[in-house]
Amino acid sequence: MPALGLGVFQSAPEQTAAAVETALQVGYRHIDTAAAYGNERQVGEGIRRSGIDRADVFIETKVWPSDYGYDETLHAWEKSTRKLGVEQLDLLILHQQAANLFDRTIAAYRALETLLADGRVRAIGVSNFTPAAIDRLMDAATVVPAVNQIELHPYHSQPATQKADAALGIVTQAWSPIGGITFYPGPWGDERRNVMQDDTIAAIAAAHGKTPAQVMIRWHLQQGRSAIPKSTNPGRIAENFDVFDFDLASDELARIDALDTGRESGPDPDRVFGEQMLFPIPED
Ligand code: NDP
Repeated sequence: MPALGLGVFQSAPEQTAAAVETALQVGYRHIDTAAAYGNERQVGEGIRRSGIDRADVFIETKVWPSDYGYDETLHAWEKSTRKLGVEQLDLLILHQQAANLFDRTIAAYRALETLLADGRVRAIGVSNFTPAAIDRLMDAATVVPAVNQIELHPYHSQPATQKADAALGIVTQAWSPIGGITFYPGPWGDERRNVMQDDTIAAIAAAHGKTPAQVMIRWHLQQGRSAIPKSTNPGRIAENFDVFDFDLASDELARIDALDTGRESGPDPDRVFGEQMLFPIPED
């Protein structure tokens, strides 16, 4: 898996194909989408428009909890591959732990194991899983998740989850890697501090002639994480990939680590997954 990918959460369908095409043209080879984002079709279109060989692009998508359950999750694979226009997924992950529906979560993961054994996916994983949820999963599963995609930016770097993932050989993948969840509009409240405007990150960025986003991405990559920054702006898509010509020193990495507040800006992964969150994923 290329460690750096393009995220497309909240990328409007009409902007998504262009963003994916631009990203592939500037060098990205990994796209992170989800059934719940409503733009898998446009991700597939952007890949085809780019002219890059399908085999050279790593496609990651996610199963939403309304499709959890063994047969339901096998069918979710059908829906996602049909929309993306591909025959195999590189990585398919469970979008939420849905701890209050965990029997269905486990059944969904068993379906991922079947898809892996059949070669319909190349790797399987999870998202928003706490260490306790990973332990519960591993009591029932045979395949260790390849990836755990979690909220992870300088204000919420989740050292305990990173450590638990690493102990099992799970790659931690950062969502909101440049802190989008700390500043984009949403139902998350107004008490958030915008990590993009953090003074420490600004000082480190200035010292390297780089931007705060580039410094955060570099921090992820140097610490062995995957990161999937989202943008639909061509200049920012290119900026977020222009991170391979500088190195952060260990004291700079430590200064960014020290910004952790221990509090998420997005949803609590342990929250009860209510009926209203189980919206259906369309067939087409
Ligand atoms: P990001 O940390 O990627 O931030 C995205 C925001 O930053 C957007 O508002 C974007 O606006 C802006 N932006 C992008 N590049 C720059 C830049 N260089 N300078 C300034 N602003 C910039 O947040 P996301 O929450 O989107 O997370 C990334 C991806 O992670 C998602 O797209 C999705 O794939 C995944 N994700 C997964 C979740 C899960 O539950 N598993 C939850 C949330 C996200 P613009 O587009 O205008 O550039």
